[in-house]
Amino acid sequence: MRLIYDLDRLELAEVLGAWGEPSYRARQIWQGLYGQLYTSPDQFTTLPSWLRTRLAQEFQFIPFAPVKRLESADHQTVKTLLRLNDGLLIETVLMRYGDPPDSPASGNGREGKPRRTLCLSTQVGCAMGCAFCATGQMGFQRHLTAGEIVAQALDHTRWLRERGEAVTHIVLMGMGEPLHNYENVMAAIARLNDPDGYHFAARRITLSTVGLVPEIRRLADEGRQVNLAVSLHAVDDKARLSIMPVAKRYRVEQILQACRYYVEKTHRRVTFEWALIRDFNDTPAVARQLAQRLSGLLCHVNIIPLNPTDGYSGAATPRRRALAFKEILEQAGIPCTLRVRRGIEIRAGCGQLAGSFV
Ligand code: SAH
Ligand code: SF4
Repeated sequence: MRLIYDLDRLELAEVLGAWGEPSYRARQIWQGLYGQLYTSPDQFTTLPSWLRTRLAQEFQFIPFAPVKRLESADHQTVKTLLRLNDGLLIETVLMRYGDPPDSPASGNGREGKPRRTLCLSTQVGCAMGCAFCATGQMGFQRHLTAGEIVAQALDHTRWLRERGEAVTHIVLMGMGEPLHNYENVMAAIARLNDPDGYHFAARRITLSTVGLVPEIRRLADEGRQVNLAVSLHAVDDKARLSIMPVAKRYRVEQILQACRYYVEKTHRRVTFEWALIRDFNDTPAVARQLAQRLSGLLCHVNIIPLNPTDGYSGAATPRRRALAFKEILEQAGIPCTLRVRRGIEIRAGCGQLAGSFV
């Protein structure tokens, strides 16, 4: 049975048209799904009962079952394990930032405007095989459908709503390589962005990619204001190939050119992600090379301390060295942030998602 969240607005209107329904029905159902966040046909009380029954007979409304939610001790990170209808497991992560001092999620010294960032998965596993990533280590199982991607956001929005909170940012940085699942990811972004539905601003959505060059260019041509993040981790092609098999297909220069094109088309700043691995990509010499390669490009570097995974022996860079790396970039005029490690104890950190019960 088809998942109702896999239909775009036009498809839904066509189905209802074929059932002899007036055109406003599609709008009612759309708003029920993406505005009121209904999860069952019974909740659509404005629809005639025969139509609710027919919807229930023809469409699947439950995309997955939450198996487990793990919350970090400081309440800042919540990881949810979801079982898809074919039994496969994916994970999503919610990160809370900047809470008022009296809230249970506060206490990290970064209180300010509350921010709720949702990290969604786009595939079960990943085919890109980056050595340091738990998702890459598990291999590729399948693409997620657009509906399965969107439903992760809906599930968390409901969960947060019950707690008086709201999603403020969405990042496609969970399991999978979003640009390898291009069509479904674009359909999901369109669905999230739709002003008549979930109405989430594209500017608050970030897509992170391992650096698939043709797809970066294609994304630039879409004319959406989505933020692009590129996982670079090395500027030397050989070094990059030693941890990222995708470097065989695309050289760093090709990636940077595609990023320049992205900036040209969208006028948006590109983010480069850099997971600091001890003695591999954390030296002052590498920092200078990186700064040189990025000079003149509207960008920002996000330095991530390497998170531990079972299948990779590389070590994280000590904080002092990470700060030195950051300083070299900043002195060269490249804005950067050093991300705070979080959710490690519940294996919710970058690259730690493997759809397991740990
Ligand atoms: N496939 C996409 C998005 C998912 S991975 C991509 O690779 O960009 C999200 C981010 O986590 C990427 O920047 C990735 O390089 C990073 N990452 C993967 N494993 C990591 C680890 N063990 N420690 C820190 N960051 C990691
Ligand atoms: Fe895939 Fe991203 Fe992990 Fe690489 S880092 S294996 S592209 S999920």
